Amino acid sequence: MPDGRTILVTGGAGYIGAHACKALAAAGYTPVTYDNLVYGHERAVKWGPFEKGDILDGARLAEVMTRHNPSAVMHFAAFAYVGESVTDPAKYYHNNVVGTLSLLDTARAHGIDRVVFSSTCATYGIPETVPISEDTPQKPINPYGATKLMIERVLSDYGDAYGLKSVALRYFNAAGADANGEIGESHDPETHLIPLVLDAASGVRPHITILGDDYPTPDGTCIRDYVHVTDIAEAHVRALDNLAGGKLRRAYNLGTGSGFSVAQVVAAAERVTGCKIPVVHGARRPGDPAQLLADASLLARELDWKARHSSLDHILETAWRWHQRNSG
Ligand code: UDP
Repeated sequence: MPDGRTILVTGGAGYIGAHACKALAAAGYTPVTYDNLVYGHERAVKWGPFEKGDILDGARLAEVMTRHNPSAVMHFAAFAYVGESVTDPAKYYHNNVVGTLSLLDTARAHGIDRVVFSSTCATYGIPETVPISEDTPQKPINPYGATKLMIERVLSDYGDAYGLKSVALRYFNAAGADANGEIGESHDPETHLIPLVLDAASGVRPHITILGDDYPTPDGTCIRDYVHVTDIAEAHVRALDNLAGGKLRRAYNLGTGSGFSVAQVVAAAERVTGCKIPVVHGARRPGDPAQLLADASLLARELDWKARHSSLDHILETAWRWHQRNSG
């Protein structure tokens, strides 16, 4: 019988998954990390057992589920490079969609009926208005966003047909690092603004390129809603705690409702790090909306969640601490 406290965390060796494992352990759960280590890091698995495996491998998943008897799944394992999803969509549909079907069907065969799913604001595409609410039409403009939207639909249909209880959390821009410096962001290749800005601050890279300064925003650079990874992790635990009651909606936005432009992020990073950050102005990146801002009031109201760690300074301070220990 499941003990009710063991949770299978796919992608638990990745950036957000590892922070979720820490939050799960703090809440009295045992996170079992299932990760193929293509992008994850085994050193980030610190709060429960590690099982190496791929979500496409149903036999391996079945073995791990039999061994650990989890009562729920937190599903982070996915490829998440937007640009690559455009040039190699097969990789994304195969891993993110087929892999998730393999996971869900194996979970179902093992009587697991609760899933918290890592979704994204990329499912909205280019919104006509901001802030974005859960009712904003979902029209992804790249295969990455499309794969996440497909799984939201699968989860909803599995809920209706099989009684699967699930919730999808649509994150805006995940950022920052664990305040104790135990885990942080390290992607290879790195494409995200804040790690790249900190690389430019420390001299690991010569400069940061601002990708477009002619957007219809006050300073011409793109505005994003940066939410601290610890707040994201805590939202997952809240969602899990509340899933059994069956009162949740199927999806919630996960952001702060406050936006910062790329230029504001660079200026704040100069202040926080005390380093001069060389800036180069480059062309727009295809598919980048001018502004992405969450209306996350539903999550706050229904899951009693608050962004407690997401001030821009705290995001940058924690990311900088992690960066100084782990780069170079
Ligand atoms: N960005 C930038 N330079 C970079 C990387 C990103 O100006 O080298 C901008 C990007 O155009 C976007 C914002 O920073 O407006 C956040 O980008 P990121 O890739 O971190 O997250 P996204 O919003 O694409 O999920």
